[in-house]
Parts: sequence; structure tokens; C-alpha cells
Amino acid sequence: MQQIFDFVRHKSVKAKVKETIKSEFNHCCAYCGSKSKRLTLDHVVASSQGGINSWLNLVPACAKCNSSKGSKNLTDWYTVSLPYYSNERLQRILNRYSAKQGTFPPNRSKGFA
Ligand SMILES: [Zn+2]
Repeated sequence: MQQIFDFVRHKSVKAKVKETIKSEFNHCCAYCGSKSKRLTLDHVVASSQGGINSWLNLVPACAKCNSSKGSKNLTDWYTVSLPYYSNERLQRILNRYSAKQGTFPPNRSKGFA
């Protein structure tokens, strides 16, 4: 019973985090800035490359950027050669990533430290 409860709780926390991240970026792709109804969450730094296990490591990305980035490092992929490159957007993602972990979400759920 406890397991089911944890699962449901974890699921709703995840949905809340997802929604919060998207609204933080105004429901626009963090990389190209396009407004998309079908935003996915992308890991800024893949966990296999030492990315932090935190919502600060997640940004909304449109399908186009998500597949273009793949498992590349953000700074390897997001360069001036991209037509939609924006230094402002890059800095925002980097600052956010390196920011001290905020108070959201205020719980100890697994998956989001
Ligand atoms: Zn995009």
C-alpha cells in the first residue's frame, strides 16, 4: 500500500515540476525560443555525463531541438553556428543550472533532489 502511495505521489510531483519548468520559460523552447505546445523536458547535462539530478538540470525543449541536441553536451551543441543561437538564452540556462538549488519542490521525493 505504501508503495502505491509513493508512486502516485512521485508521479504528481513530477507533473508539477514539469509544469513549473515550462511556465518558467513561458512555454517556449529554452534553446530556440519557439512556442510549442509539445515541449519535452531535456537534460541540460546528461546524467551519464555527470549532470545533476535536479529540476535545474531540466529545460523545456521543442522536438526539433531535442532531437538535434541528442546526447551532446550543451556547450558542444549550442554554438553560434546554430541559426537560433542566442547568448542570452544560453546564459540563462547555464546560470539556472549552476544556481544553488532552490526551494522548489519542497519535498524529499526521489528523482528531484
Ligand atoms: Zn527549440
